Amino acid sequence: MAWFKRVEKGIVTPTDQKKETPDGLWHKCPECKTVVTMAEHKRHRCVCGSCTHHDRIDAADYFEFLFDDGQFTELDANLTSGDPLRFVDTKEYPKRLVATEHNTGLKDAVRTAHGLSTGQPLVVAAMDFKFIGGSMGSVVGEKIARAIDYARQNRTPFLMISRSGGARMMEAGYSLMQMAKTSAKLALLSEAGVPYVSLLTDPTTGGVTASFAMLGDFNIAEPGALIGFAGPRVIKETIGKDLPKGFQSAEFVLEHGFLDFIVDRRELKQRLADLLGMLQPVVAAAPGQREARRTPIKAH
Ligand SMILES: [Zn+2]
Repeated sequence: MAWFKRVEKGIVTPTDQKKETPDGLWHKCPECKTVVTMAEHKRHRCVCGSCTHHDRIDAADYFEFLFDDGQFTELDANLTSGDPLRFVDTKEYPKRLVATEHNTGLKDAVRTAHGLSTGQPLVVAAMDFKFIGGSMGSVVGEKIARAIDYARQNRTPFLMISRSGGARMMEAGYSLMQMAKTSAKLALLSEAGVPYVSLLTDPTTGGVTASFAMLGDFNIAEPGALIGFAGPRVIKETIGKDLPKGFQSAEFVLEHGFLDFIVDRRELKQRLADLLGMLQPVVAAAPGQREARRTPIKAH
């Protein structure tokens, strides 16, 4: 059939006659190859309708559907990183920051905001992987710490959405200090009796897993997310053995007791509302009352 076979060889179309296909009109699932329109894909929160593969999305996308009518107030939107170590790899760190800011329109790898979600106040911190691999430098740590402070002062539940390659190499020790800082702030939040839900998305690794991402009152994850400290390749090379099937997937980590549950992104908002609704009496109680309930009365 001539329609399906190229009968003439060597057909060359001059560049000025080539037709442009508009970018981003269609989406092909990387797992099952199902093709849908981009609009439909977005409507399903970038989850494949056929195989439930969860595409990576940005902080802005989470804010858009988690906050009622997409309305929220951003916190510390203009915090940017310094260069305390005068770090140079293939590029000087400040130049890398400027270039990344230009390419992504983001100031750093996390955005924090508060607003209403299903009618209940909520503080959300969500990481952006496209900003230097969602790496945790001093700005990420500081913004998360301040968001936790806001949550504590306003007795508002805190949701952390992690998506990170770990600590930021260019800030070395300063990055590692963020683990201690965010953990200490979360301890204060816990002491105040304000709930913290940690959502681990693909991927959550390194210093982020080793600090705030695993410290939730509820640690939950998106299906199929890679969750671990060191990457599978590093572990495999170190122990010199093959790793079990599904190693470091959210499902594997759940089975081994590190997670409370896995949640489909399309159900996230409702599941969160149910969970926080259940915890509402705890949030409403003043810290003193809870203390009294916890401490057994001593007989004299
Ligand atoms: Zn699919």
